[in-house]
Amino acid sequence: MNKKPLVVITGASSGIGAAVAQAMSKQGHPLLLLARRLDRLEALDLPDALCRQVDVTDRAALQRAITEAEEVYGPTDCLVNNAGLMQLGRVAEQDPAEWDAMVDINIKGVLNGISAVAGQMKARKGGTIINVSSVAGIKGFPNHMAYCGTKFAVHGLSETLREELSDDSVRVITIAPGAVETELLSHTSASDIIDGYEQWKDGMGGVITSEDIANCIAFVYQQPQNVCIRELVVTATRQSA
Ligand code: NDP
Repeated sequence: MNKKPLVVITGASSGIGAAVAQAMSKQGHPLLLLARRLDRLEALDLPDALCRQVDVTDRAALQRAITEAEEVYGPTDCLVNNAGLMQLGRVAEQDPAEWDAMVDINIKGVLNGISAVAGQMKARKGGTIINVSSVAGIKGFPNHMAYCGTKFAVHGLSETLREELSDDSVRVITIAPGAVETELLSHTSASDIIDGYEQWKDGMGGVITSEDIANCIAFVYQQPQNVCIRELVVTATRQSA
């Protein structure tokens, strides 16, 4: 069996998740990479990486993929709950179906990941759950109502999960990135909101990269198991909000 333990990453097909996969692979971890676009997972072409097409809203499928990977690589030592959707919109104009999708992926998807690994981690008294939230999980931003709501939820559930699992030596870590250059903005349907967001990014001379966040995630995970960096808020230096 591989010497380093299994790291599971949701939303590994692009952006931050793909960068985390590359960083963890470089450190020698076997990986379970999950997303809906299987071709993008396979294109990463990482060693000891099981790629599975899983929608994080499908709790049973997520559990099945994790069980399959654990049979090959041993128990999940780190779950990076990263899959997420951002659809910005004005409250009176936005299709509430977009709110449903964000709640399902950003909150329920994170809970589904937790449910697949928490019992095993608690029982063996070890493991790390890293939930990717956002600065939008700490403060409001224009046109972000539902997205902020889902990310505040990630902060809230992580706080409680940490309290519950701390005595069993399981770490729960919240990562709160500011704006990062990824595909995330492309899912917003209002083109003027996209344009305004792009101008905001340009105004700060560009934003941080997925690799910047992946380095932070690798850093918090590499700490000794008795050291828990509970929360990391990481933005471009010139991001004022
Ligand atoms: P991307 O859009 O590049 O990546 C999102 C990832 O989530 C993709 O791999 C996508 O894969 C996956 N995903 C989305 N929905 C599902 C689903 N239902 N089931 C499984 N996987 C899914 O954006 P980022 O890399 O930026 O986003 C990663 C995380 O970082 C998100 O949680 C986001 O909210 C957070 N974040 C991003 C910031 C930014 O500015 N970019 C700032 C703060 C936080 P696929 O479509 O193949 O399923």
